[in-house]
Amino acid sequence: MQDDDAYDPSFLSDPDDPPELDSALPGKHGLVLVSTPIGNLGDVSIRALETLRGVDLILCEDTRVTAKLLQANAIGVRCEPLHEHNEDARIPGLLARLQQGASIALVSDAGTPLLSDPGFRLVRAAIAAGILVTGAPGANAAVLALTLSGLPPHPFLFLGFAPARAAARLSHLKALRGAEQAGLSATMIWYEAPHRLAEMLADLASVFGAREAAVARELTKRFEEVRRGDLAGLAEYYAAHQARGEIVVVVGPGTAEASGGAEIDRLLVTALATMSVKDAAAAVASATGTTRRVIYARALELKGNSEAS
Ligand code: SAM
Repeated sequence: MQDDDAYDPSFLSDPDDPPELDSALPGKHGLVLVSTPIGNLGDVSIRALETLRGVDLILCEDTRVTAKLLQANAIGVRCEPLHEHNEDARIPGLLARLQQGASIALVSDAGTPLLSDPGFRLVRAAIAAGILVTGAPGANAAVLALTLSGLPPHPFLFLGFAPARAAARLSHLKALRGAEQAGLSATMIWYEAPHRLAEMLADLASVFGAREAAVARELTKRFEEVRRGDLAGLAEYYAAHQARGEIVVVVGPGTAEASGGAEIDRLLVTALATMSVKDAAAAVASATGTTRRVIYARALELKGNSEAS
């Protein structure tokens, strides 16, 4: 599991001299990000296995977890740990090996490295050092949950784990709600621990109100389940039934009315008190990032309502 990483914008390698990709099989040299299964050991690509077999070193979040995948596929390559607590310290040594021509694979315990998992800082350092960085793609719990949820697949916003503490989680959710009121409209995805699921759903329902959502559990495993419903119903269900296993929470975008309508109306009413319909619509469209045509139509309605009453 990986917390937010520091972001240094000065990482780019020389755009006139990019590293060369010399093979369809990643891992002949450079750093290669290899996705592993999220539950079912069969969910790993042939190319990912060939890559793991061909590299000089495999960096693993937990070598004991990756050992199962390697043993199941008769891969005997050396493994070393790379996790949240040693990533920074390991970067200089790993870059030196990569610069000497080593091929190194990075895997996490499950799914795609970097996504709520270690590796981001190493990837940026490798890019900055001009080292080839490539990947063997595969499973990811967030994307699978999104596609199974029945909610709009794009745009989507992947948020990793919400803060564990109640106050921090609420402000995180309220900030997103604020972004919606300013015009964001996206399906949102979080990873969540089973013992926090009921609280998370209750907070989601209180901040986002009536909203379609889905809870995807144990994907690709024996007890896989996708429970779809509105936020309040899901919150009620999981308050009464303790969830088990690995979980992804998916929340659909608000309708125009739910996500920003009330706020837009409030801004329009204020603007219409002193401005023409055209100017009020332009001002509110620019303040909320909503299309001027939509706001203009709503301003006409509001003006009509107030004149009729
Ligand atoms: N990098 C991984 C990926 O690509 O999906 C995710 C790593 S993150 C540390 C682990 C979290 O992902 C779990 O706590 C759970 O929220 C989610 N997750 C992983 N596997 C899952 C599965 N099979 N079903 C549902 N959620 C899963």
